Amino acid sequence: MAAIISQSSTAACTHCGKDIPTSNIDLHYVHCFRNLEKCSVCGEMVPKKHASEHYGNNHAPIDCIHCGEAVERKSLALHRGERCPQRIIACEYCEFPLPAVDLYKHQDMCGNRTEFCDACGQYVRLCQRAEHELRSHNHSNSASGSPRVDGSPGREGGDANGRRPASTSPGRMMLTIAVTGAAFLLVSVFLQRRIDG
Ligand SMILES: [Zn+2]
Ligand SMILES: [Zn+2]
Ligand SMILES: [Zn+2]
Ligand SMILES: [Zn+2]
Ligand SMILES: [Zn+2]
Repeated sequence: MAAIISQSSTAACTHCGKDIPTSNIDLHYVHCFRNLEKCSVCGEMVPKKHASEHYGNNHAPIDCIHCGEAVERKSLALHRGERCPQRIIACEYCEFPLPAVDLYKHQDMCGNRTEFCDACGQYVRLCQRAEHELRSHNHSNSASGSPRVDGSPGREGGDANGRRPASTSPGRMMLTIAVTGAAFLLVSVFLQRRIDG
């Protein structure tokens, strides 16, 4: 059956769905059925001989040049901006640019480095630096506050990863260990990538 006849002088082609004058419908249907096919991705009617071209231009996945994953053309920008595991992001503590896939491990370690706080003379972990500034050095509460010891167990909520409370006297030793650890991680990441590549 080539057509669904309506009371008007046109009918819908059952192959492409277009309204065709009833006088032409049989001819159209033969031609339409032989030459056109519906794109399974976007639903557009495409000439059969150009179907693969249509698919290639519109729907064929592209290999991401960074991670090699096949990504549909229209979501490539999103992939590169937000999803690609090899997209480069700067560490929020040291601003060293790293592939996203390595960033979390690095930041975990990098944020655990301690830094000497000039204002109070304590060593403060980088990941707690902002919180420390806020708690210990917001100058609004002047009179009552006795100088608090960092790393009291009452600390809550601030640390998303639920790490151990900071030790009270990290000292030079801890700093050295943390810095060495971070450097070692960086080196091993680069060596790994060189081997992989
Ligand atoms: Zn048709
Ligand atoms: Zn299509
Ligand atoms: Zn990618
Ligand atoms: Zn870092
Ligand atoms: Zn301080």
